[in-house]
Amino acid sequence: MQEYSYHMHTNSFGIFDGHNTPEEMIRKSEELGLKKIGISNHLAFHPNMPDQSKMFFSDYHQACDLYKRVIDEIRTVSLNFKIDVKVGFEVDFFASTQWRNLFEKMREDIKADYYIGATHYLRNQTEDYIMNLYYLQRNPQIEINKEDITVYLNIYWDNVIESIKSGYFNFIAHLDVCKLFGYCGGSEWDDRKKEVIETLAKYKQPYELNTSGWTKIGEQHPYEWMIDELNKKNVPIIISDDAHCVDTITQHFDQAESLLKKHNYTNRYCPFL
Ligand SMILES: [Zn+2]
Ligand SMILES: [Zn+2]
Repeated sequence: MQEYSYHMHTNSFGIFDGHNTPEEMIRKSEELGLKKIGISNHLAFHPNMPDQSKMFFSDYHQACDLYKRVIDEIRTVSLNFKIDVKVGFEVDFFASTQWRNLFEKMREDIKADYYIGATHYLRNQTEDYIMNLYYLQRNPQIEINKEDITVYLNIYWDNVIESIKSGYFNFIAHLDVCKLFGYCGGSEWDDRKKEVIETLAKYKQPYELNTSGWTKIGEQHPYEWMIDELNKKNVPIIISDDAHCVDTITQHFDQAESLLKKHNYTNRYCPFL
């Protein structure tokens, strides 16, 4: 079994969406026999970010202050444990120059150990309409018309592709997370997924096999055919549980190992060797 896990969340400061403290997550990881872990709470910042969660920030300084406190908290707690603990963030990437400039400054300000690239939003081209997919799911009264959804989903794939090209990230999270919400399941979207595969291969960008989908929709991220294609192109893969509580740390790791074995997938990624 993979003895490291670099995608997990905490409930730090009552702000983030995990259910346990860093201390609880670290202790449980150690008990489970993991040798190295990383805690990666959401970094969701954009000047036009709507007020959809206390985890989302439109104010640069407010966001930075919190991220620095989280890093301090985790680094301090980890001193009490043997297991190697890194502090990263699961970053919501946005493609605009405005966001990139701010993120580049933020990286210098907060100095986390690593960054995971993610896309959890539907947005328009100009990034003044930003809609979190989970927020949309929880608020079914919000309706988006069909033509707009098609535009937003194309931008979703563009955003994933641009996040790969950016070079900001150690690995890219759940490439097809949109399928959790019933989007892009059909083969009419396969060309966009193939573009993602080509870009990952071209940039030799590691990506994750995210096991959390097995519990949520009976299927991992990304699709098995994508994993198969990415293996043929020798793109490095890391298994992630995306744990939001102690009970899901290393969840479905055995199943993930079996899937990789089935495809003879040997190019495994670890951000800290
Ligand atoms: Zn995510
Ligand atoms: Zn996550």
